[in-house]
Amino acid sequence: MITEEAIQQRLGAIACPICRKQDFLVRIKTESPDGENVYTAICAGCRYNFPVSTENKLYQLSNPDTASWLKGFPCPECMTRGVELDFRCTVTVRESRIFLRCKSCRHEFNESMPGEAYE
Ligand SMILES: [Zn+2]
Ligand SMILES: [Zn+2]
Repeated sequence: MITEEAIQQRLGAIACPICRKQDFLVRIKTESPDGENVYTAICAGCRYNFPVSTENKLYQLSNPDTASWLKGFPCPECMTRGVELDFRCTVTVRESRIFLRCKSCRHEFNESMPGEAYE
């Protein structure tokens, strides 16, 4: 299970869509007994905030396309296919980031969410 500290540290890889600062605070928004917490990331610069979800199992069950995308995704570090989903965040209504980890070399990186349809 990924911790608040780990989420906060890894969010440093992305820039705030408003002020472009790469510094976020992470707070638990909803605590659920099965550990599927909903977090809020708050920009340290302008207080812009967005939701972060660590609920991955259900998400992959209801999004089989994403699950197969993860299986076939090549790690940018070692080029081995197959990555794990750590957490997701909806940075803006138009941009979701998915934070991943290589199953082979444990390299951590993030990508834009694939195939999201916005209404
Ligand atoms: Zn900001
Ligand atoms: Zn790798």
